[in-house]
Amino acid sequence: ALLAGAIPPSDIGVTFDDIGALDSVKDTLKELIMLPLQRPELFSKSQLTKSCKGILLFGPPGTGKTMQAKAVATKAVANFINISMSSISSKWSGEGEKCIKAVFSLASKIAPSIIFVDEVCFLRSTNRPFDLDEAVIRQLPHRWMVNLPDAPNRAKILKVILAEEDLAQDVDLESVASMTDGHSGSDLKNLCATAAYRPIRDILEKEKKEQAATSADGRPPPALSSSADLW
Ligand code: ATP
Repeated sequence: ALLAGAIPPSDIGVTFDDIGALDSVKDTLKELIMLPLQRPELFSKSQLTKSCKGILLFGPPGTGKTMQAKAVATKAVANFINISMSSISSKWSGEGEKCIKAVFSLASKIAPSIIFVDEVCFLRSTNRPFDLDEAVIRQLPHRWMVNLPDAPNRAKILKVILAEEDLAQDVDLESVASMTDGHSGSDLKNLCATAAYRPIRDILEKEKKEQAATSADGRPPPALSSSADLW
């Protein structure tokens, strides 16, 4: 419980099914992290396959990097520890290394665990991974760009985000996907959340109109039950 507590696998709440698109990243994480845990015998023969200690996921914000790490932890039944570089740097200035050691020691005590280090780019204020500290880069030979989704992938993400929603018949996710160039998965989620308020507003509007019509009749307005009273 230094900068963030460890989340037990049953409480993480993200699975690979919650992630739309990003299939190649999913497959890579499964091969590099899941498979060695599930089939250690396959990896015992070569020194080269034994060395994966970390993976660098980089790219624009909101593209699902945290989700991927959480899904891996859920699947691997591992604890999830999220530490952010910026909080280490500000809270522990000059003691970053000590802090990271403490986190790794906690992780090994409660192993298996996935340590997710967020905002690595903070080290040099950049979004590009190759400006990172040489020492950090050397620890992370596996580097994956998680880019903004293209239209087909935006459609896949929308499908996942809206899977449990009660959609109107005429909603065309492909056309929404084609109109949302430059949107990250997180932007798409926000867009859908905004749209989900529309039917609520419509209901309130309808209630308000009905109330206005009733009072025009000279009949008493309905009791406080109507949510139109909120406005
Ligand atoms: P940051 O770099 O800002 O930390 P990130 O890449 O780690 O961002 P996430 O935190 O994983 O992004 O994503 C933010 C939110 O956006 C998620 O909680 C989820 O709701 C939504 N989201 C992003 N990408 C996807 C996706 N591929 N499928 C479904 N939802 C997504």
